[in-house]
Amino acid sequence: MKVIDIIQKSGNTVFSFELLPPLKGQKADKLYRTIDELIEYKPQYINITTHRDEVEFRELPNGLMQKRIVRKRPGTVAIAAAIQNAYNIPVVPHIVCGGFSREETENVLIDLNFLGINNILALRGDGLKFETTFTPDERGGHSHAKELVDQVVNLKQGKYLDPDIKNNAPLDFCIGVAGYPEKHFESPNLDIDLVHLKEKVDAGADYVVTQMFFDNQKYYNFVERCRSFGITVPIIPGIKPLAMMNQITVLPKLFSIDIPEEFAKEVRKCKTNDEAKIVGTEWAIQQSRDLIANKVPCLHIYTYGITDNTRQIAKAVF
Ligand code: FAD
Repeated sequence: MKVIDIIQKSGNTVFSFELLPPLKGQKADKLYRTIDELIEYKPQYINITTHRDEVEFRELPNGLMQKRIVRKRPGTVAIAAAIQNAYNIPVVPHIVCGGFSREETENVLIDLNFLGINNILALRGDGLKFETTFTPDERGGHSHAKELVDQVVNLKQGKYLDPDIKNNAPLDFCIGVAGYPEKHFESPNLDIDLVHLKEKVDAGADYVVTQMFFDNQKYYNFVERCRSFGITVPIIPGIKPLAMMNQITVLPKLFSIDIPEEFAKEVRKCKTNDEAKIVGTEWAIQQSRDLIANKVPCLHIYTYGITDNTRQIAKAVF
């Protein structure tokens, strides 16, 4: 089932969460255990992230440094299919522009369609660690998520990259895109970011999922601004339960978001990560209760592979 249909058919806030594919060299057991622990709360769909190349430097015996490009978490398509088949829950693999040519993206979308996966989250991805700005794949990759949405919409109409293709069967996808209540870090201001968000929606995105936020008012203001820009699709809030003391400084840096002082003050009082996790979970429960009371379409939790806190939130609110 498509995410947009799940949301539109449900009269209540639905539950979904995000998982990371296993690191190269690891089995999928941990991922299955994560799902097993959350299944009783009836997740309506599960997102699977995609991770592009990373750059590593290794010291050679001669003392020189060697640059290596590695992909630490391959396998999004395979793990997405395995989860959908094992649990009969729709999966939403993330598709990123960075590190992929248009042909590779088309092939991934064809594979997903063969596997019965009809949901994707279309993202640009970030630049490589040493890049100051995002660089599209040199083999003709997309520069922005909107171009990726265009490609998916073309495939929905049976338009493949090769114009001479015969029997051009349309592919069927529900498309989600990312939105940023506190603006994307590269955007000069929220209005310009919303112009680009509207372009993604006008191109054919069915819904928006937000970056994490710790102050619900930021989400409510964002939804209001989106509506005033003519963005009418559902806007799904993404919630990250804070799990470690250092995340009050790491998360703002990584995701260009604010941590409200009232919350940061409580986390600063913690002496251990276990204490910080309790405070972070309680904050996420309060956020979730308020969002559900305000009838958000879905509560989407960024698990980062940690289940006990996501489980406590789901138990408290669903
Ligand atoms: P875009 O929509 O392309 O926007 C990026 C920036 O470019 C914005 O500042 C926007 O305002 C600007 N922009 C857009 N169009 C134009 C234009 N035509 N001209 C000029 N500027 C423009 N990353 C991963 O690598 N893997 C994941 O699995 C992943 N999952 C995510 C899930 C969610 C819910 C979210 C919110 C983010 C996720 N990310 C993931 C991170 C995401 O890839 C980064 O935030 C990335 O920097 C931007 O992606 P985007 O799709 O929002 O890009």
